[in-house]
Amino acid sequence: MSKRLKLRPDKGFNFWRDSRDFAPASTRQKNIWRIPPPNPLGQGVRVGVCRQCQALVENPSEERGCPYCSAPRDEKGYRTVDISEPPGFNTWWAINAEYNGAFEFTPRALKTRLGTPSDEYSFETRQNFDIRCIPQALVYRINDNNGKDFEFFKVSNQHVWITREAFEQALLDLSREERDRVTEPVPDPSVQAIVRALAAISTTDVLIAGIPNSGSGLNLNPALPEARAAWYSFGFLIRRAAAVSLDVAESELDVGIQPFTDLSSPFAPPSARIFLSDSLENGAGYSSYLAQPERFENLLHFILGDEHSSNQTFAIPLLFNGHQEECSTSCHRCLREFGNMAYHSILDWRLGYDMVRLALNPNAQIDLNYDYWVDLVSSTANSYFSGLGLEQTTFGSLLAGIDSFNSEAIILIHPLWDINPENLRPEILQGYTEAQQQGLTPKLKSIFTAIRFPYE
Ligand SMILES: [Zn+2]
Ligand SMILES: [Zn+2]
Repeated sequence: MSKRLKLRPDKGFNFWRDSRDFAPASTRQKNIWRIPPPNPLGQGVRVGVCRQCQALVENPSEERGCPYCSAPRDEKGYRTVDISEPPGFNTWWAINAEYNGAFEFTPRALKTRLGTPSDEYSFETRQNFDIRCIPQALVYRINDNNGKDFEFFKVSNQHVWITREAFEQALLDLSREERDRVTEPVPDPSVQAIVRALAAISTTDVLIAGIPNSGSGLNLNPALPEARAAWYSFGFLIRRAAAVSLDVAESELDVGIQPFTDLSSPFAPPSARIFLSDSLENGAGYSSYLAQPERFENLLHFILGDEHSSNQTFAIPLLFNGHQEECSTSCHRCLREFGNMAYHSILDWRLGYDMVRLALNPNAQIDLNYDYWVDLVSSTANSYFSGLGLEQTTFGSLLAGIDSFNSEAIILIHPLWDINPENLRPEILQGYTEAQQQGLTPKLKSIFTAIRFPYE
């Protein structure tokens, strides 16, 4: 009875009732045994969530924006929210509405986040990655109804809280006749509605790994869409390789990213680390096993299929066999599967591979002349520039399109290249100079954006 149900935040609602209704949950007070009032939604906990850098902030301040990436408080940036992990749920017998909470993907939920800050731990460094296992870390899955939260009202004369939306959703599954027979639940006028986001919080060992030296001219700040995509692609690539090498299902491991601030350089933008956790509470221990630095390095080589790799069974289907030609971002052969549907639009296997190479070598070649980028860039540039009516050319080593009407030059760059003036790559500087010599205003566009949002 008192066993907590492991719920995943689903479409949101359902009918929460108190699983302690019949449990001996009394407290001793003034020598009198009192039964506490049922509390089906559980105790609310306030956390901060950032939709930019993916931070989850415990004990958040009520002022200012995101403590990691400084995103302002708004629906696309940072907010504080009360979350509940309801201890019980209800099936609405009268209308056959079952609890349907256990599925992974919902567009209204936030991505899996790590609550335990990693800043206070020391990491082991090897090649160009740092790694450790954080034991018993807190992993949050939160459904905040796309930033709008859920409003629960208490049903009159019952210890049941529901959302209006849940009731209406349940009705949709009924025939018109059955629907007409249903009486609407009546809110208890003496009890205020509660606004909460739903959470499933698990305690589990977590592998966490980052790239401490991002190389010159690159920007791995997860608040930028390109870098965020790269971190997630890195994470899902590692998860797939881990699943193959351990011979387990991908769904046994959860993936997320966590921002962190490098305190040694006060004005540096945040960077991120990926985390992998066993998806079942107190799972089989895959993530702590893989957090051993040498093992993790072997996994990176296994992804690349390079000379340090035991075999190329993972790399060949991705780097050859027609995949390169057919997959401009991600597909089921490389990074996509049903459980990561919420990430499909940002997953990019080329960015994932770039991150793997960077994790092994701070001087890895991260540009659009690298092997698997070349063909994609030339074919994309062709259709992109002609689609926009621009005249294709090159400035330095970079492909560009000239907009003679506005005297602008759109220069295509690698998604991870930094566009901050103090950290520009020499290729960008050269492209800038050549465009300006022709009287054009240079504008930088990453290939990531050119493919996904050509008209922005
Ligand atoms: Zn942030
Ligand atoms: Zn693919």
